[in-house]
Amino acid sequence: MPKEIEVKSVLNKTKRRDPWFLDDYTVNMYSSCSFNCLYCYIRGSKYGTNLENSLSIKKNAVQVLEKQLASRARKKQYGIIVLSSATDPYLQIEEKYQLTRRALEVIAKYRFPVHVITKSSGIARDLDLLKIIDETAILPEDLQKRLGRGTIVSFSFSTLSDEVSKVFEPGATRPSVRLETLKQTVKQGFFTGVSLMPLLPFISDTKEHLNLLFSTFKACEVKYVMPATLTLFGHTKPDSRTLVLAAIRKHYPHLLERYERYFRASTEMPDYYRRAFQRKMQELGQEFELPNRILKPS
Ligand code: SF4
Repeated sequence: MPKEIEVKSVLNKTKRRDPWFLDDYTVNMYSSCSFNCLYCYIRGSKYGTNLENSLSIKKNAVQVLEKQLASRARKKQYGIIVLSSATDPYLQIEEKYQLTRRALEVIAKYRFPVHVITKSSGIARDLDLLKIIDETAILPEDLQKRLGRGTIVSFSFSTLSDEVSKVFEPGATRPSVRLETLKQTVKQGFFTGVSLMPLLPFISDTKEHLNLLFSTFKACEVKYVMPATLTLFGHTKPDSRTLVLAAIRKHYPHLLERYERYFRASTEMPDYYRRAFQRKMQELGQEFELPNRILKPS
């Protein structure tokens, strides 16, 4: 049973807009995340080994958001709200609590633009509200011409294989189902793209799998594909490095020596690998005509 907590603030103003995710604000209606991805960057002792056990519902979040957005709207401080940066907006419990849906109602009321990032098919329920936001949001001045609409939807994938996903993101909607939801958002005219963050070294960044990823997303007519490689942190039990290495030991023992060598003293893959990764992603982006950013840098 998830805990219920009260919060003082739910709308977080970022110091500056991130060039990848375009966030002027972030909103997380839940704390922690039942999708439980082993590689998740929020991992660490704060949330424990199983993120689902530390899941909390911010029970007054909708009221707090309304107050904060009303104040920002009065001052005309419009900006893109990323939903969500440290959880998924469409966790299993969203069906019951509907905090994301109620947050979108408030966002639509105050006419803020949104960028929804998800690994869930649950977003399909809210396409009606996202359509209203898409058509009526007030964009910050510098994005009025460059973006020209109020809703961005990014589906996050680290693989297209349901089997690999079961190991590394056990609580998330399986990629095959996620892909069908992505097709639905494209079909309904939403500005839709993909975050490949992270691709898993030697598992989902092989030549064959990359070709499958890019050709699949191209065929789906997404607007962008943003790839990044794996970063792992920490050496204690709940840390992403410990959990990913344990999964590699169990499911991919032939890769263990390499993963241990690369991540023993570093949070990242070695320089030569990252340079080759960047080159490969640029080549694939050009070949499939899929930009690696939502918007070209201005
Ligand atoms: S869905 Fe995102 S926030 Fe949730 S566990 Fe996975 S990576 Fe972390």
